Amino acid sequence: MTSLRALERAIRELRAGDPLRPVAVIVPNRVVGEWLKQSLFAETGHMGLDFLLLHELAWRVAAPGLLREGRGLVPENVGLALLLGAIPGALAHPDTPAYLRDAAATAGFGPAALSTLGDLAAAELGPEALEAHAPKAADPERLRLVARLWRGFEAGLEGARLVDRAALYRAAAQAVPSPLIGAVVLHGVADPAPVEAAFFEALRQHHPLAVVGEATVASTAARHAARQQALAQRLGASWAAAGAPAEGSLARMQARLFGETQAKAAPRDLDASVQVLAAAGESLEAVEIARQIQQAAAEGVRYHEIAVLLRSPAAYTVALASAFDRAGIDAFFVEGVPRVDPAARGLSLMLDLVGADLDRGRVMEFLTTARVRWPDLLGPEADVSPSRFDRLSARAGIVSGLASWRTRLAKAREDREAREYEDDRDLRLYDGLLRLIDRLASDLATIPESGSWAAFLDPTLALLDGWIERPTLVRQRLETVLRPLARYAPPPSRDEFLARVREVLKTQRYQEGALGEGRVFVGPLAGARGLRFRRVFVPGLVERAFPALVRPDPLLLDDERHALSPGLRTTRDGQEAERLLFLDAVRAAEERLVLSYPRFDTTSGRERVPSSFLLQALEVALGRRLDAFDLAHLAVPGATALGRPHPDEPALALDGVERDLALVSSGRAGVARHLALPESFLARSLAQELSGWDPTLTSWDGIVNMAASPETLLTLRLAGQRSSASAVQGFAECPYRHFLQRGLGLRAWEEPERTYQIEGKDFGTLYHEVAHRLLAELADQERLPLRVAELDALFDRIAVLVDEELTRFAAEGGIMNVELLGPVRVRLRSDLEDMLRDEIAFADSGGGFVPQAFEQEFADVEIPLAFGAIAFRGKIDRLDVSAESGQVRVIDYKTGKYFWDKGAQFKGGRELQLALYNRAARTLFPDHQVAEAAYYYSTAAGGYKRKACAATPEMDETLTGVLSALDGLAVAGVFPPVADSCTFCDFKTVCGPFREARAARKAGDPRLASFRRLRDIP
Ligand code: SF4
Repeated sequence: MTSLRALERAIRELRAGDPLRPVAVIVPNRVVGEWLKQSLFAETGHMGLDFLLLHELAWRVAAPGLLREGRGLVPENVGLALLLGAIPGALAHPDTPAYLRDAAATAGFGPAALSTLGDLAAAELGPEALEAHAPKAADPERLRLVARLWRGFEAGLEGARLVDRAALYRAAAQAVPSPLIGAVVLHGVADPAPVEAAFFEALRQHHPLAVVGEATVASTAARHAARQQALAQRLGASWAAAGAPAEGSLARMQARLFGETQAKAAPRDLDASVQVLAAAGESLEAVEIARQIQQAAAEGVRYHEIAVLLRSPAAYTVALASAFDRAGIDAFFVEGVPRVDPAARGLSLMLDLVGADLDRGRVMEFLTTARVRWPDLLGPEADVSPSRFDRLSARAGIVSGLASWRTRLAKAREDREAREYEDDRDLRLYDGLLRLIDRLASDLATIPESGSWAAFLDPTLALLDGWIERPTLVRQRLETVLRPLARYAPPPSRDEFLARVREVLKTQRYQEGALGEGRVFVGPLAGARGLRFRRVFVPGLVERAFPALVRPDPLLLDDERHALSPGLRTTRDGQEAERLLFLDAVRAAEERLVLSYPRFDTTSGRERVPSSFLLQALEVALGRRLDAFDLAHLAVPGATALGRPHPDEPALALDGVERDLALVSSGRAGVARHLALPESFLARSLAQELSGWDPTLTSWDGIVNMAASPETLLTLRLAGQRSSASAVQGFAECPYRHFLQRGLGLRAWEEPERTYQIEGKDFGTLYHEVAHRLLAELADQERLPLRVAELDALFDRIAVLVDEELTRFAAEGGIMNVELLGPVRVRLRSDLEDMLRDEIAFADSGGGFVPQAFEQEFADVEIPLAFGAIAFRGKIDRLDVSAESGQVRVIDYKTGKYFWDKGAQFKGGRELQLALYNRAARTLFPDHQVAEAAYYYSTAAGGYKRKACAATPEMDETLTGVLSALDGLAVAGVFPPVADSCTFCDFKTVCGPFREARAARKAGDPRLASFRRLRDIP
């Protein structure tokens, strides 16, 4: 609180003669400003008290003059853009060495060069100083390049009528005295750059000025202390001396660390005011800190009295945020937390679609993940289901391309409409999706291929506003960062623009709450100078992290900086700054300081070396030298460890998961009983595991209590359903599969892919299409039955039809490139030609059948069962009629291989389609006698073989028997996993690897008897 009292005193003194005199308090950062404002309010009130950053004060003073000249302060991004714009001109000089050209091409060169120029300008140097020094430097061309860059940068500033910080301070120094400010207090500003110090001096000459802060001891940071001394002389001010040596571990540390008295204290043990924590890695360190904060809160310490001060926020922010979330601790992260903003994520996904040809996977990732403004896009009453959009578009087989989206969605809609459901939600969803895709395509097209920053930014913001909910924060950030570039930076390529937007979206951070509002303070050390908390945690105390490795500036080496100006900072200053930062952290604690470090690098498993600062601090507190063994002895390992993610003692658990793990690992009988309550996940898992060894069928084996779920019974039964033959065959193959599909509604996810090679299913569809078109044409032209004399003409027609179908297939996105269809074209033509030859030969064998109907749909073919009836619907490839016998027969084309054993017909109940086709043919041709239904394996792969099912009463009876047995199983609620037809099943992962053994163990269950009898049907 020393600095707070000193500040109050300074303000009182400055207002001694005029209580209403405005006072500007210059603070090192906004957090300190906010904290001081809150802390001082009770004492002094807000009247006329401003907390400003130094450049804000300078702008207040200099703004009238600069604005009169039409100048503004260069925004950070614009500064970088101007410097990047100056690089090509600077490199154009023929003497530029190749290694510097290569360096300038790297991403880090621009920001590094901007920082170097900032240092030089703040030291009140100009490009000519570099050029003058260049001949004396080891690498003169490097200095000359920096000088050229500088001139180019300055020219850019001048062209844009902007000034940099150094110029601002110079202008402000000339503009004082200013009627816009009163007295000034410099709080915690002890080591200004020369141009800033000159501004201070000008202020002191014309305005009442006070300095508040602590004097730096030469043994801590000699160069810093010397500059502070020099500034004190210029300003006629003094800094408060550090506190006198005091008792207690923390007090000793604060008073003596890095001081001359460091080694002279009497030996003592560490007391409770200082603790060392050594967790296994950074995330466990965060967990242990959260645990200690929970304990501190239980002791009565309020959250806003606790701080976690970070040297490297990037390494700890996410881990701390996650640990605090688990522990239910409210925290204020000064630099925000990189939480995912749905709007930023949504825009990022949307920009992934630019130039992606409406790739279905990406479109659906966007539509299902982003918070889309559905009502604005589709209307307030629109039916919206992103997951259903995904399913429908996947089923439609869309891969990419607007044409494919349009044609495939329209086709899928048409197919759906043909089913004539009473109130079909899918039709509305198809309509919505079609509109959405059209709008998406046209909106994405507004992002140009090339143009200025504004030409890219405006349509990007329009996309954001038009498509994404709650876009304000993202819009503001894009406007802030990218809009200035639109005015000053050279035009980017589209990829550069998109990369910059993604970078901005990725680095977007979110602050919750405000400083002091009942929240733990989590912030960078550099921003907490002068703040005080009852409990302070300083994690990450390992070598190379804290103190961080300070590297020299590669563009202006230390000796060059030294030679150019004593005001230029070198690596030595960087090292001193690390010591001062650590001292600030130690002094921030009022009651207890917890210094912690990760023992291992958890990614490589390597041991970490504790920080030399940690050792020095402990040596001061203990009054003796310390080695690694002593440190390991002193450090508390925390309640968790690698491989043991819970404390030994359940009372120390951070959350419910830790507590349950701790209870179970304690081994005490009964303590984890709650985990085994009947409805718990664990109890159900164990029951499922055990049931596998039970020789009877259980509820884990598809035994369903139908009496308790009459609605499910309706869905699972055959009677009362409109069904297809393949759905019923699926039931006969495995009742459990039927239960998963119909009862639980599970479906395998089918993701359409960019295909480079045609699949068997597509070949079959193409074959069916050409065969159907050809024979239907011939029937219309009354050119059936087929005749040998016509074959050549028919082959030509096949060639045309095959070409047309393949072109359509490629246009709809069925394959990447139509050229890849060459081998398929040859195979289709050859198979279809041979099919015609085979048909002619087969017709010669008698019967007089002539193809008469094609792609014939049937519906409501009812088959009565014991209780109720099942109605079938479907489509028959071809129906041939014999005029001489008055018979009809069904032909179903098959393009795969022939798999029939001798004498097989129903294949144990799995094959019902042919018998069903005979029933369907009877309803379609009631005046004819149905002879048979046959599979025609009409390709070279199937050998042009036929497998027929005669339309006899016996076959009919068997069909009815199989259907009744299956319906009986459903009524009884018996849907066991039979596991004898698993090869092509989608649910193998559901049933697990031991399904066959499990099914075999339960095969003797009497409830399976009727099903086992089905398997005896040949
Ligand atoms: S994996 Fe086998 S047992 Fe399981 S549902 Fe599929 S066919 Fe039935």
